[in-house]
Amino acid sequence: MARIGFWQLLLDDRVSYWERNAINGAYDQAEIAAGQAEAASFTIGQLQARMTTMGREIVMLRAALTVLVNTLRDTNVLNPALLEARLEAALEEASPPPPPQTTATAVAPRPYVCIKCRQEVAAAATTMTADGPVCDRCLR
Ligand SMILES: [Zn+2]
Repeated sequence: MARIGFWQLLLDDRVSYWERNAINGAYDQAEIAAGQAEAASFTIGQLQARMTTMGREIVMLRAALTVLVNTLRDTNVLNPALLEARLEAALEEASPPPPPQTTATAVAPRPYVCIKCRQEVAAAATTMTADGPVCDRCLR
């Protein structure tokens, strides 16, 4: 189906002006959606190709590393136990840290000392002036 043109609208009295506009609007929307779908499919294809390349590279790296470690071990250049321990430590260091503790002490901000009354007040209840923090009570 194509857009309904000016002459078709003029010569065919089965189609009203509003119907033509609605049909053409829907046609344009469908074309936009088809274009977006095509772009998304292209992006997915690119990602797939990249994943394949990366997978191949990982296999090659693994093979190279295995050969390297085996050669070093077989020629007594390094101690297998030491290598194991170091590898474990490095892997532990590389893995993401556990989520931060959300205890009250960790979250609570340090209180400010009001420059007028010298009392400790929560940072949220102070106003920072040019001279230092002033609590809301002294500010009033
Ligand atoms: Zn104060």
